[in-house]
Amino acid sequence: MLINGNWIEREDLEVINPYTLEVIRKIPALSRDEVREAIDIACSCKEDMKKLSITKRFNILMYIAKKIKEKKEELAKLLAIDAGKPIKQARVEVNRSIETFRSAAFYVKEFRNEVIPSDRLIFTRREPIGLVGAITPFNFPLNLSAHKIAPAIAVGNSIVHHPSPKAPLVCIELAKIIYEAFKKYNAPLGGYNLLTGLGEVVGEEIVVNDKVDMISFTGSIKVGEMILEKAKKKVCLELGGVNPNIVLADADIERAVDSLVKGSFIYSGQVCISVGKIIVDESIADKFIKLFLEKTKKLNVGDPLNEKTDLGPVISLEHAKWVEELINKAIEEGAELLLGGKRVKAVVYPTVLKVDNDNIICNTETFAPIAPIVVANEEHMLDYANSEYGLHAAVFTRDINKALYFAENLDYGGVIINDSSLYRQDNMPFGGIKKSGLGREGVRYAMEEMSYIKTVVINK
Ligand code: NAD
Repeated sequence: MLINGNWIEREDLEVINPYTLEVIRKIPALSRDEVREAIDIACSCKEDMKKLSITKRFNILMYIAKKIKEKKEELAKLLAIDAGKPIKQARVEVNRSIETFRSAAFYVKEFRNEVIPSDRLIFTRREPIGLVGAITPFNFPLNLSAHKIAPAIAVGNSIVHHPSPKAPLVCIELAKIIYEAFKKYNAPLGGYNLLTGLGEVVGEEIVVNDKVDMISFTGSIKVGEMILEKAKKKVCLELGGVNPNIVLADADIERAVDSLVKGSFIYSGQVCISVGKIIVDESIADKFIKLFLEKTKKLNVGDPLNEKTDLGPVISLEHAKWVEELINKAIEEGAELLLGGKRVKAVVYPTVLKVDNDNIICNTETFAPIAPIVVANEEHMLDYANSEYGLHAAVFTRDINKALYFAENLDYGGVIINDSSLYRQDNMPFGGIKKSGLGREGVRYAMEEMSYIKTVVINK
């Protein structure tokens, strides 16, 4: 862990490679008192962080991006062994995190204030919110940490960062880079602190501590709802859900199959915007399912470090066993198993099920390589797609009027046309509604969340 520029090594908590199930390292697990101390330090750095010049903030962010690029292969390998991410997908995550830091550097200079039409001089200033508590999940430990740290630095906030204990190693390397950058540009070393350990200790203290001004959380709905209850401060929540993907009768079927196979199985379905269920028009269902199965059978399952691997393990043996039980439950409820359903240690094989929309698997975030396919008539699709969740939805169609109709009527934070729900560009506004979240990320939008508008009025 990193507190006030000091590295502390302890062997409290085991970090496990989800593919081999071996312990790869032990890391410190902070106590509540240690977290409080770190928060005190970060809080005392707020003024100095706020005073960092625009040029310094720009330089720090560009330096971090440059160092990540230099360490690309090392970081990608850590993602493979710690998070079980196939190496070629791990490299994509590293590249994205470079862009996230670069994009924040760009917005340091382009984050504009406003002058309000008036007889007086009225203008706005963006003030940093103060101390941001960043709590991040296991599935994109590097880029989703970047999505909180980069905008926080860009607007001049102090940060305490709690990474997921399920995949913390890449965050430790990122913290080393941030430390170097802060040292090089004379930023306060207590302005960024990495607090490893258990969520119910470290995360919870960050949430309830009065000195933390804002919580930026990405993770499960369960923890997100608990945070919403306990945090007496501004909260941004990036949570999960079930993302519906609709294939209309006029869709380009091959294109839809390509996108949906990728969207269902990349990183074993452990992406918040993975395909949650596919709703396909009954008139093309047979052809769609045949092609979908053919394409899915070509995926390579195995060691994340192998260049050919498309799917490795899920994050833990415990999660894999839960997924196995869920598949069995779905089958008991009447789902037809078309492919997969097999588990070896923490590896769950790509699984395709033909289901009714009210099946448990269509209404549960599985975070696993499962593609439930619901065959439907177009008039029922919107009903099947809208639910208590609201992150991403997708529609495949060649008809612009239908695309616009669904874009307007799907109650989701993002609607993707002619690609799967998995699509995300890091600078676009991103986030959910309903149970799936509160607030927006996507560098500039996170900068808005992490700052407040001060209105200055000057009388003549
Ligand atoms: P998780 O909720 O188990 O953990 C997320 C973080 O919260 C971890 O750092 C954990 O240590 C911490 N935590 C756990 N208990 C806590 C507590 N009591 N108080 C404060 N913090 C606590 O989630 P996960 O398993 O790491 O990630 C998977 C989930 O994240 C999925 O539901 C997925 O949909 C969601 N997710 C959402 C997005 C998004 O942008 N919307 C992106 C990625 C993942």
